[in-house]
Amino acid sequence: MNFTVMTLFPGLIEQVCAESIIGRAQSAGAISVSAVDIRSYSKDKHRRVDDTPYGGGKGMLMSAPCVYDCFADVASHLEGSVHTVYMSPQGSLLTQKKAKELQKYDNLVILCGHYEGIDSRVIEEIVDEEISIGDYVLTGGELPACVLIDSVARLCPGVLADAECYENESISCGMLEYPQYTRPYDFHGKKVPDVLLRGNHAEIEAWRKEEALKLTQKKRPDLL
Ligand code: SAM
Repeated sequence: MNFTVMTLFPGLIEQVCAESIIGRAQSAGAISVSAVDIRSYSKDKHRRVDDTPYGGGKGMLMSAPCVYDCFADVASHLEGSVHTVYMSPQGSLLTQKKAKELQKYDNLVILCGHYEGIDSRVIEEIVDEEISIGDYVLTGGELPACVLIDSVARLCPGVLADAECYENESISCGMLEYPQYTRPYDFHGKKVPDVLLRGNHAEIEAWRKEEALKLTQKKRPDLL
């Protein structure tokens, strides 16, 4: 799957996505992430990409033509299915279900706003869907874009070692995951539950189910 991010700050995307599992997945060719600088499409001699909003008000808006030209160029180079998302506090909230849905496209084009946002006309023209990462407002769409990329990319074949890694996880499985432990056996007097040491897989499975249910009831009863 290819992720193409349209942004005024490509370095933010490149740095975050070059690290850890997403970085390794790119090196292995399981996904690709590229960041395209919207500013390169400005026709202004000072490379301005923003202007004051009609009707007055504080702040600056990213103007429509450079965003549109950037999108047209990006789209002309893509093959396969394309879905365009604008990261926006006005969008629908990102969920695991949404990440699964988006994983089906060959290309996800992600538009990041900055300042007061983007001229509404270009959003109407090029965007399929607006997505928010939560009910708070950030300074730009780059961190939300990285969150979206991470949530979708880890569902792509070849990114995690095994699909089981995410199928049993919190939220994906419909509740929270059971508690997990690794060495040492005794940490500050707290010992690993005996059931996990006995090697009886049916018993371990039953214990995990019960613990997952208890945790969900305690922390996220709304999931049940
Ligand atoms: N004036 C806009 C409004 O009230 O809807 C907010 C603009 S915000 C300061 C600048 C940019 O940050 C937005 O264009 C969007 O790309 C991004 N952004 C801010 N909060 C976000 C959120 N919760 N989820 C996704 N993107 C967000």
